[in-house]
Amino acid sequence: MAAEATIVLYTLVFGFYSFLEVSGSMPQEIRSEGLTLTSLFSRYYGDQDIDFIGYHMRRCTGAIVIHSFLPLIYTIGLQFVYPHFNILFFWDVPPTVQRLLMLSFVSILVGVSVGVAHSRKQWSAHPLAKVLSKYSNNWRLVASSINAEYRRIDKFVADVGRYKIVITDSWILKCGVHTIQAIRQSEAELKVSSTDEQRIDVEGRPVQFLTIQVSSVEPHITSFKMRLKSEIYGSLREKLTLPIQVARRIVIRQTLDEQFLVAFTEQVERNGKYSVPNECLPLEPCLGCSQSMPEVKLMKTCTATGETSCQSCNCKPMWCLSCMSKWYASRQDKNRPDTWMGGYATCPLCRQKFCMLDVLKIED
Ligand SMILES: [Zn+2]
Ligand SMILES: [Zn+2]
Ligand SMILES: [Zn+2]
Repeated sequence: MAAEATIVLYTLVFGFYSFLEVSGSMPQEIRSEGLTLTSLFSRYYGDQDIDFIGYHMRRCTGAIVIHSFLPLIYTIGLQFVYPHFNILFFWDVPPTVQRLLMLSFVSILVGVSVGVAHSRKQWSAHPLAKVLSKYSNNWRLVASSINAEYRRIDKFVADVGRYKIVITDSWILKCGVHTIQAIRQSEAELKVSSTDEQRIDVEGRPVQFLTIQVSSVEPHITSFKMRLKSEIYGSLREKLTLPIQVARRIVIRQTLDEQFLVAFTEQVERNGKYSVPNECLPLEPCLGCSQSMPEVKLMKTCTATGETSCQSCNCKPMWCLSCMSKWYASRQDKNRPDTWMGGYATCPLCRQKFCMLDVLKIED
């Protein structure tokens, strides 16, 4: 009876570990410690910063081969848990173990065959090479342009546990445990198809997840889905060169800063305009992001008077709308977003006080 209980316990633990391993759901702590079967062999996959496509082809194929050994590892483990037979003597072990051993060898045979098939002709037979060859006669040229784009620092990478989403200047890639999918941005269509909520936030707040369907206008390219936290929706959209369609009934919860930027922009549009005097030209890029040109000027236009009222800032326009909105929001009470619109902040440089009415848009 005790032996049976041990076998059941061993099977449950092994089954759970295998499920996490094969589905890629292993917790981040275990993955970062390199305690997964697949990470044991990671040094053979190369460097993804040098050869991104090659690395992921080897990693996925490696995972298929390694996971095909799981039934054999289970059977060998069983030998230690229940040492009443010796798997080295096939004809003497109980019939159940004989069947397990046969299953193990079939699994390895399939896994190794797939591995050999994928790596044939210097990986030209890998499913990803076949996808890339739909974009060009020479898939290696496509692969090296993706590799070059991956090396740029402004790529978008989201590790969602079971897979990684990578968006480069012209590609959308989904890197799963056993497969990698790729669609070129110029032929892609993205659609938020559903949302769901989970309470996994450290403060117990619900976190919204978006399921985005990525498909290609080319019929022979396979589409795929990705599920991401809605808080990274903004940075995802920034990296894409195409709009994301959102199904009508879906409401995407933006971050507080994003919601505020909308309200801030609306208020600034209602305020007056400021024309930059010639002696201030040319303007230099925004001090906050160095990406956009300055868009706003702080100047007292509100009617409040007295000791503590706003003052005019004498700095020349140095900030874009988004950076000024973030700066203003960062000076407000995080727990009272309802008071933000009526609040105050100080100029990042000269420290003069201003309110929302004092942010003027620069005249083009
Ligand atoms: Zn100032
Ligand atoms: Zn800026
Ligand atoms: Zn004011």
